[in-house]
Amino acid sequence: MDRKRIYLSSPTMHGEEQKYVQEAFDTNWVAPLGPNVNAFEKEMAAYTDCGYAAALSSGTAAIHLALRLLGIRQGDVVFVSDLTFSATCNPIVYENGTPVFIDAEPDTWNMSPEALKRAFDKYPNPKAVVCAHLYGTPAKLDEIMAICEEHDVPFIEDAAESLSSTYKGRQTGTFGKYGIYSFNGNKIITTSGGGMLVSKEEEAVKKATFLATQARDPARHYQHSQIGYNYRMSNITAGVGRGQLLHLEEHKSLKKVIYEKYREAFADVPEITMNPLNPDGDANCWLSCMTIAKDCNITPDIIMDALEEINAESRPIWKPMHLQPVFAACDFIPHHADGRSVGEDVFYRGMCLPSDIKNTKEDMELIISVVRHCFGR
Ligand SMILES: *Cc1c(COP(=O)(O)O)cnc(C)c1O
Repeated sequence: MDRKRIYLSSPTMHGEEQKYVQEAFDTNWVAPLGPNVNAFEKEMAAYTDCGYAAALSSGTAAIHLALRLLGIRQGDVVFVSDLTFSATCNPIVYENGTPVFIDAEPDTWNMSPEALKRAFDKYPNPKAVVCAHLYGTPAKLDEIMAICEEHDVPFIEDAAESLSSTYKGRQTGTFGKYGIYSFNGNKIITTSGGGMLVSKEEEAVKKATFLATQARDPARHYQHSQIGYNYRMSNITAGVGRGQLLHLEEHKSLKKVIYEKYREAFADVPEITMNPLNPDGDANCWLSCMTIAKDCNITPDIIMDALEEINAESRPIWKPMHLQPVFAACDFIPHHADGRSVGEDVFYRGMCLPSDIKNTKEDMELIISVVRHCFGR
């Protein structure tokens, strides 16, 4: 196979990243703190209007710290998105909490408000609700937040995939008590690896930074009254992030062009439906996804294999958490009262298409023709 690889979503670098990294080298700020870290936090806070931000080693660390800030303990129930990447819920288990998985709804593929309501009937006292914005599409935030407010339960937004997406004009990640972003290699912007915890509450973000630096008490000697972590972002990494942030809006518009291109190209194939976008929001279209009609004998595997033949990377939809062996003992609240799961259906019928913003017009045409061919077009 000598055809070049067509990627799902790989880092897109621009050059400014190196300028900030060079500055860090020139001033010897090669440490898990420094001017790039402070500036990246300020620049992200300004971009998202989130209030305050703590730059961390990963998005997973940010979710973990959000749960620590809420004091999640042994046996505490936490409602969490079911159709998502495992990082959304793993930190609940780090704190020995009990995840209860909330199904997706069909309109955005995110947490179902209907299932969430029923979850409260069954478990009246959860300690938090953690909701992801899948593939960059904002969840039904008004409905979900109204339920959380009614029950006075803190809401954590996993905006790892949705940085730059907005809901009713406001950035995702800024609605909950705490929001988190990820800068992993395949996200819309990357620092190679990293994350951020954001909140309107300055004290909370300060506390997160404290926990992220081994929870050192303010004393000259090394003194600790709490268990901390080594979760801070490095000054080198933050330099990459500052350079990337300059291109976030550009990445978003290119991702949207990819989504539109697929949508138009498959408009006359009734078996294909693109992933939903929330009409109340403006999605970053991080990954373009499709589902295949229920009665069709073409499976996502057939399409993924066909794309692999042209050396193009695609992937399945996230496998729902309630189907994961590691979470087999956890409860799951389906969207439909009769027990049918929307997330399972999306998983079995869906897949993610190559969505790399460096893919050329020719790459896109090739991908599209291969997918169409699978449906006899
Ligand atoms: C990528 C991702 C995370 C985790 O971010 P890391 O920076 O990789 O730890 C969390 N949640 C979702 C939905 C993600 O896609």
